[in-house]
Amino acid sequence: MLNMIQEQAKRRRTFAIISHPDAGKTTLTEKLLLFSGAIQSAGTVKGKKSGKFATSDWMDIEKQRGISVASSVMQFDYRDHTVNLLDTPGHQDFSEDTYRVLTAVDSALMVIDAAKGVEAQTIKLLNVCRMRNTPIVTFMNKYDREVRDSLELLDEVESVLQIRCAPVTWPIGMGKNFKGVYHILNDEIYLFEAGAEKLSHEFEVIKGIDNPRLDELFPLEMDNLRAEIELVQAASNEFNLEEFLAGELTPVFFGSAINNFGVREILDALVNWAPAPQGRAALERVVEPGEEKFSGFVFKIQANMDPKHRDRIAFLRVCSGEFSRGMKIKHLRINREIAASSVVTFMSHERELVEEAFAGDIIGIPNHGNIQIGDSFSEGEVLTYTGIPFFAPELFRGVRIKNPLKMKQLQKGLQQLGEEGAVQVFKPHNGGDLILGAVGVLQFEVVASRLAAEYGVDAIFDSASIWSARWVSCPDKKKLAEFEKANGMNLSIDAGGNLAYLAPNRVNLNLTQERWPDIVFNETRELN
Ligand code: GDP
Repeated sequence: MLNMIQEQAKRRRTFAIISHPDAGKTTLTEKLLLFSGAIQSAGTVKGKKSGKFATSDWMDIEKQRGISVASSVMQFDYRDHTVNLLDTPGHQDFSEDTYRVLTAVDSALMVIDAAKGVEAQTIKLLNVCRMRNTPIVTFMNKYDREVRDSLELLDEVESVLQIRCAPVTWPIGMGKNFKGVYHILNDEIYLFEAGAEKLSHEFEVIKGIDNPRLDELFPLEMDNLRAEIELVQAASNEFNLEEFLAGELTPVFFGSAINNFGVREILDALVNWAPAPQGRAALERVVEPGEEKFSGFVFKIQANMDPKHRDRIAFLRVCSGEFSRGMKIKHLRINREIAASSVVTFMSHERELVEEAFAGDIIGIPNHGNIQIGDSFSEGEVLTYTGIPFFAPELFRGVRIKNPLKMKQLQKGLQQLGEEGAVQVFKPHNGGDLILGAVGVLQFEVVASRLAAEYGVDAIFDSASIWSARWVSCPDKKKLAEFEKANGMNLSIDAGGNLAYLAPNRVNLNLTQERWPDIVFNETRELN
């Protein structure tokens, strides 16, 4: 039994796919699913421009704007492994959600548009990965177009993202002259052919960089290419597994997602090199993936994924043991057992009832609002998983409603959207209007649209004279009570029940901090 659990955990690879918008994340996701056989035809993942909408496009606003607001989870088998792929919303306004998704993975696949290089959102995401030393695999996309010089791209990744590059493949030409890639470790050349019909394993392989067939095929290019590869090998880092696992070095692959080219090499890298689930820290102890008993934490909540059912799904990352359908699991924050009979898994966007899940897998628990981001679950042992961040919002709005009779719906809607992490909701001590806090301004639009569609509330947002929020705490309860009494005008409670100080400006915050040296002002709230 224990052996089986350990084996299953070792077979898992759980990674997030990250990029700046438009680099090709959706296209690559689809190709990974196609290649693994999880889906049969293209266009099923997200047809944001073709008009086809997959299950993840549950919100009008997402369709209108053509951005993926919601992250989603896909599971598929590749070789003898089970792969969990977590999509992340690329738009910067949803970066909070993305950050939390990154706490639930063991590695990340970074997609870069080779015509553009390292872009703003990539930098932010990489910073989060670095906080946790997440191993990164890099894919340089769009070589079927005119792109930037490959060595220059590697330089940019190294200097801007502060991670060393080890090219594993190397492109031969680009744009109209894109001939394929040379696999440096395998000493093989994969010939490129345009068109989305070819599957990744159907491209012609030529063994050996000195193979005379290459000179027949590319009489003009081969001398240059051989010289370039020598240069690349001398000037760049060799792949090193330990440094990759430490998050210090990234293997780099080149290709064209839209043409299915380079997809297999990425999957192979993830399966061969990326880590299986590791031990995970809870406040009480480190929990190993191969332990017999089930445990996990919620990193994301999504409400009303299917508007017909009005449900909320809590996304839980399994950290240890085996989850099997119908078993009783304990919701540790409220100390209550729940029978998880309708728990779902995510097979390439189709929700299916889950029979069993192991460390690394993501399961979805339908609920009516009693689960929050950061909640831990187990078979009974008290475990409090740590490290799921909330960020101090930078934008604030007061909320009013046109119809006062809808106050209850407004509060319910905001409470749920707050728990879901769509926006942060603060209830001021002084009884004033509820305050919304966001990292990106688009979050407010999403909230307004969802309040109207899902709760029937027309909300009006007013500007609020708040500059920033800090979560406050103090080990000395008496001091905290004094602080609360003296600062009631600026204090509030967030959707998770935590005390927050809403500062009108920087000067006020600095003065308050100086005046109350025993009070801790936190810029991020790590759950628990
Ligand atoms: P996302 O925003 O990162 O999910 O990017 P998408 O996958 O939606 O791709 C953005 C655009 O780039 C789309 O128009 C794609 O068709 C295009 N694209 C993706 N991969 C490639 C590629 O390999 N070559 C070319 N020429 N275009 C690509």
